[in-house]
Amino acid sequence: IMHPTTTSHQMTDIDTTPNDHGAAHQADRVMAWYIGTTAVLAVALVALVARIELADGHGSVNWTLFGVLSVLLIVTETQSQTWIRFGAGGVVTASWTFAYSLMLIGEPLGAIVVMAVATIASEIAGKKPLRKTIFNTSQISLSLAMGAMVLFAFDIHGPVFTGGDLPTSRGIAIIVSGAVVFGTNGIVLCKLLAILENTTFMSMMRDSFALSMSADAAMLAIAPILVSTTQSTLLMLPLIGVATFFVYQTARHAIQQSHEADHDPLTQLLNRRAFSNRLDSFVNAETTVQRTGGVFVLDLDRFKEVNDRLGHRTGDHVLQAFAQRLLGTLPDSTTVARLGGDEFAVLVEGPDADAVDAIARRLHAELDVPLHVDGFPISAGSSIGVSHYPTHGHSPSELLHAADVAMYRAKRFRSGVECYETLGASQQKGRVALLGDLTSALDRNEFHLHYQPQIDVASGDITCVEALLRWDHPQHGAVPPGEFIALAEQTDLIGPLTDFVLAQALQDLHLLPDRVRLAVNVSARNLQDRHFAGSVLDLLARHRVAPTRLELEITESSLALDPERTAGTIDHLRGSGVRIAIDDFGTGYSSFATLRELTVDCIKIDRSFITHAAQQRRDARIVTSLVELAHRLGLDVVAEGVESAEVLELLRNVGCDVAQGFFIARPSSIDKIAGTVTSVQRITA
Ligand code: C2E
Ligand code: CA
Ligand code: CA
Repeated sequence: IMHPTTTSHQMTDIDTTPNDHGAAHQADRVMAWYIGTTAVLAVALVALVARIELADGHGSVNWTLFGVLSVLLIVTETQSQTWIRFGAGGVVTASWTFAYSLMLIGEPLGAIVVMAVATIASEIAGKKPLRKTIFNTSQISLSLAMGAMVLFAFDIHGPVFTGGDLPTSRGIAIIVSGAVVFGTNGIVLCKLLAILENTTFMSMMRDSFALSMSADAAMLAIAPILVSTTQSTLLMLPLIGVATFFVYQTARHAIQQSHEADHDPLTQLLNRRAFSNRLDSFVNAETTVQRTGGVFVLDLDRFKEVNDRLGHRTGDHVLQAFAQRLLGTLPDSTTVARLGGDEFAVLVEGPDADAVDAIARRLHAELDVPLHVDGFPISAGSSIGVSHYPTHGHSPSELLHAADVAMYRAKRFRSGVECYETLGASQQKGRVALLGDLTSALDRNEFHLHYQPQIDVASGDITCVEALLRWDHPQHGAVPPGEFIALAEQTDLIGPLTDFVLAQALQDLHLLPDRVRLAVNVSARNLQDRHFAGSVLDLLARHRVAPTRLELEITESSLALDPERTAGTIDHLRGSGVRIAIDDFGTGYSSFATLRELTVDCIKIDRSFITHAAQQRRDARIVTSLVELAHRLGLDVVAEGVESAEVLELLRNVGCDVAQGFFIARPSSIDKIAGTVTSVQRITA
């Protein structure tokens, strides 16, 4: 078990953890090198363009048009929506149209200079980091300079459109030059993004290029039309302007939509789908060295509380602030997503298992520092489950599932951070073996059920039987449920196991009279399952048992997990007549809160209060009060762990409804129970 580090209330920068140092610096160096190279290439090529242009002259440039287009370029560049830049295809700005137009009216050098000035201005206005400004300026200058070189190669110096018919070679030159501008820009940008996102150039191209590139292409394609119609008269400019604006808006809209398909609208983080894709390309990356990394699944601990107390608006703001905190705390190269509700996921690429755990612990400490939202300090707290790549899975679903199981443990043990691996920790070696056996036990039919009667305290009639799972292990003999239920809960096995119990018990129930109900224990994980309620109702229908004959026992701690989903399942079941009992009442963390928030039918007072109630006055008083409390809330009360006649007597005196325990009957097979129920209607009276 990983213990969360003591909370430091200072912002620690995970970027500089010792373990991370190497990798982060490496990526930094590659990036700096790449940006430097682009800048040098850009300067060299622009110098060449300048030399050629100054040597060969630029013919009769329409300087009025040059001025108008320059103004338009600067306006559109500085007004462009910066967030669109995040789309992998980069910028869609109308400025491309004007820059390429400037080139086509015979001023390649002027085009580059104006575009560079506009870019620098907009980057400075947007307070972008210096290296980003350098890169963007270099990239754009390089692309335009490449286009200019193509025009020179076609021996075009000065305006492309000189009036009269356009020679075919010039038409081709326009197309080729535009394509080169477009291609250079795309390739240079894609390579940078590939470095930034730690993937290959090809996968970057494949993933995100088609859409935004076609937008850029459209903006470029307008330029020749613009120039050919406006070179002689500016009168047509407004018309072309309208068309340009429309294409620009459409392109923006398309990019925005593709952004929305991949992002959560509330937090702007990636959504589940995009996260899985990202995870997929991480595990499937073609590299020679074995990559390592980790996946976290995070869940806020007290989100529902915040939402209920402070309203959904504040709840939304908490999620946004939490997302910002996540982004601010994690290294740049991590992928952060919102899976839905208050559940988030993180992918860290590169660090080994120990470093991944260290990042998770620091993150947890950082997330413990209260968020300031709408004027409130809110400490929503988080539970983090960690899985390691490749130790815990080779596919996105395996890794996510392992992290999810670990997160569930972190919630359950309130330990903050849990790693999937702890299941295999040395002191639990025996358990791991057991887990392996458990997996095949269902197929090998090693499970069976025992039933323990519950009686009506007043009349002594058997009203209900509780199904209790038994496992006959081929070597270890009878393994008590306390040992394997918890194991099954940590894996997906609890689903099939509960299904088995329900199906078997519903079948056995036909051996008992109709007035006897069936109680089945269900685990928290079952209630989380969105299909659970439906499958229980299906089973009831298939075994032709009335839903009112079934009672599901749930423990309070199961309700602490994702209360909304749990409540949904419970409401669905109760709506159809199934009864719900809170098991082990009094031992949970929030017994009374549970009663306030959930409508149930029954509480089962934990046996620790019952067994010694005849000797312990305090226990007796607690039991008395709990019975009264339950009755005031309109709930039935079951006392479990009744081991003596004295306790049963006491329960009768305080008005407890139902009793269960060794004194009444020990759990046993359905045949014995059926014999008892039919022969002796009353066990005690
Ligand atoms: P529980 O739900 O509290 O079940 C009652 C447990 O108390 C049973 O232990 C039962 O044998 C024991 N018990 C009954 N009367 C007395 C008594 O007078 N004194 C004492 N000291 N104990 C008594 P068991 O069968 O070992 O089950 C332990 C736990 O395992 C159960 O506690 C329940 O939480 C879990 N469990 C059992 N079957 C299932 C199942 O099918 N599904 C799930 N999810 N959990 C199960
Ligand atoms: Ca129970
Ligand atoms: Ca119990």
